[in-house]
Amino acid sequence: MFDYKHIDNDGQNIDLPLGKVVCVGRNYLQHIKELENDIPSEPLLFIKPSTSLAILHRSVVLPKNLGPCHNELEIAVLIKSPLSQASLQVAAQAIWGIGLGLDLTLREVQGRLKKQGQPWERAKAFDLSCPMSQFVAKEKVKDLCNITFSLQVNNSLRQHGNSQAMLFPILELLANISQTFSLLPGDIVMTGTPKGVAALSSDDQLEVELDGHFRVNTTVV
Ligand code: ZN
Repeated sequence: MFDYKHIDNDGQNIDLPLGKVVCVGRNYLQHIKELENDIPSEPLLFIKPSTSLAILHRSVVLPKNLGPCHNELEIAVLIKSPLSQASLQVAAQAIWGIGLGLDLTLREVQGRLKKQGQPWERAKAFDLSCPMSQFVAKEKVKDLCNITFSLQVNNSLRQHGNSQAMLFPILELLANISQTFSLLPGDIVMTGTPKGVAALSSDDQLEVELDGHFRVNTTVV
């Protein structure tokens, strides 16, 4: 079950260990509005463990009997060198590449936890809660502040985002995160979801696209 490895855009293994996944909540205004949350004054952070990682193209596995599980498609940043208290320049040099990940979220469970003032891990950090695509080397990504990505569910567009619309852009996020959590080689940063979160169902056909780089087709089970 836990056979995830980082792979590049040619399907080759990337020689980096598995690490934690640091996630950013509420980084796109339109998504903050759809869930009626407040605009954060600093990035909202939480962590998924390495056991959350799964191979996106194989399948997307939903937990059973725990209520609706929502798609949150996000730009994922693979880290190749240690970052602690980093500047923007150092953060830029620590990026191996860019991929797309799903921050699967048990929305009713999260609602209950939020109401009780409890951490979100049971809603977001469960086994296989982070299906991950391949990664495109950073040198091939022209502009980190203009990355377009999308999610189709059963051939209809559900999420479409561009990193331009992030409240906290990628390098700022890495520098900010590294003030609290050191990022290590093999860690992944998930940079927040645009609007369009909704429940996934068994047998849904997903198509995930990083514009100009790759398209991944997969099935929800
Ligand atoms: Zn998310």
